[in-house]
Amino acid sequence: MRYLSTRGGMSPKTFTEILLTGLAPDGGLAMPETYPQISPTTLESWRALDYPSLAFEILSRFMDDIPAEDLRTLVNRTYTADVFGSKDVTPVQILEPDLYLLHLSNGPTLAFKDIAMQFLGNLFEYVLAKNGDELNILGATSGDTGSSAEYAMCGKRGIRVFMLSPYGKMSAFQTAQMFSLQDENIFNIAIEGVFDDCQDIVKTVSNDQTFKQKYKIGAVNSINWARVAAQIVYYFKAYFAVTRSSQEKISFSVPSGNFGNIFAGHVARMMGLPIRKLILATNENDVLDEFFRTGLYRPRSTAETRQTSSPSMDISKASNFERFIFDLAGRDAARVKELWNSVDQGKSFDLSTTGLWAKIGDFGIVSGTSNHAARIDTIRETYRKFNVVVDTHTADGLKVGLELREPGIPLICLETALPAKFADSIREAVGFDPKRPAGYDNLENLPQRFERMAVDATQVKQFMASKIDTPNKASASEKLTKS
Ligand SMILES: *Cc1c(COP(=O)(O)O)cnc(C)c1O
Repeated sequence: MRYLSTRGGMSPKTFTEILLTGLAPDGGLAMPETYPQISPTTLESWRALDYPSLAFEILSRFMDDIPAEDLRTLVNRTYTADVFGSKDVTPVQILEPDLYLLHLSNGPTLAFKDIAMQFLGNLFEYVLAKNGDELNILGATSGDTGSSAEYAMCGKRGIRVFMLSPYGKMSAFQTAQMFSLQDENIFNIAIEGVFDDCQDIVKTVSNDQTFKQKYKIGAVNSINWARVAAQIVYYFKAYFAVTRSSQEKISFSVPSGNFGNIFAGHVARMMGLPIRKLILATNENDVLDEFFRTGLYRPRSTAETRQTSSPSMDISKASNFERFIFDLAGRDAARVKELWNSVDQGKSFDLSTTGLWAKIGDFGIVSGTSNHAARIDTIRETYRKFNVVVDTHTADGLKVGLELREPGIPLICLETALPAKFADSIREAVGFDPKRPAGYDNLENLPQRFERMAVDATQVKQFMASKIDTPNKASASEKLTKS
């Protein structure tokens, strides 16, 4: 399996060659040159596999330059009951006939990103050890991604994480989750500004090529192909959980932001998994819904991006969307390059009058949007009817999924976070606090470890350099213990 860029400017590369890089050199995203095709016979032979064995079958087709035995060890180490709460890893719960919830949030940070990120942590450590290399991950977070990355990378040899977050702007739960990590390779940097300030600092540091190379700076954002690949697995697992034969078709509803999760569903469908519809749900930030309804892709400015009660879907442009357009365009990289030339200049594009739009129906993606009132209603109704409390993101997916489902086609709604992370909205909907999983009761009272800094890229660089140059120097971290 070799990988190409969506913009055509990268010579074919192996999986491990694209693993640690972010964007392709031409600014595009890495894509497998073809999708592995899974015949109905092979599909049936996978039906009884447990999660790690299924993950091995799927991932080995994309990561064929990792020796099979090693990959098996990596998936076996990642997908355990210990890390994900049950041997099933992603259990399916029936709500009513033909309506299911796929639980993706039982990993350490209680959100679906753990499923890919936990694997990425093991995979990075393995590849770096093999090459005698190291990596310093720099990122900015307003919540979920940062903690998921830290819990995946903590204690991993050859890896350090420097995670910027806006000081005092995350929820108490999210803050405690990140800042209570005591591992020596994790550095939380609380910036006295907003999330955009954090992101600007990451950009400034990453654009300094000399610094970037000297200190081996990398990222783990949602465009990482290994993350997408690891998310394909649970679409297959859920399909097997609700069907009896590969004659049956099912649909999925997916709360979407950066288009990573639903793109993995698209790849599963392209591989031959009998998916009828992929139902894309957005919140008030409806850039993707607008595209799938009208053909107009209109990325928003930061000022136009709204803060909502499903914050992990508050995006202004969807970073994995370029991959879908590459497929829609019949893998015409020149076309993608032309379209993203305008996106990169902050402009929109409109496919409604082009031949491409005529093909959109072949891909099975339909969409809808939700908002705060609908989300609260859905949480309340789901509790009343099924005695199940869902989080705000999952509620957006359920709301749109129920609107667009078809009679006789089972619908699986992806649960992307646990309600415990969004207590305010749950209280508003049902009048009581969501349950916390065992072990999280005391989270906010644990000692916290972080570094507080001004909005100043130079200061961040100096801090990173000091930690990387002299990794064993005693930490000067600000240590706080809440009483
Ligand atoms: C990241 C996230 C999403 C959006 O997923 P994408 O892959 O970015 O589309 C939805 N819900 C939750 C809880 C998330 O953390």
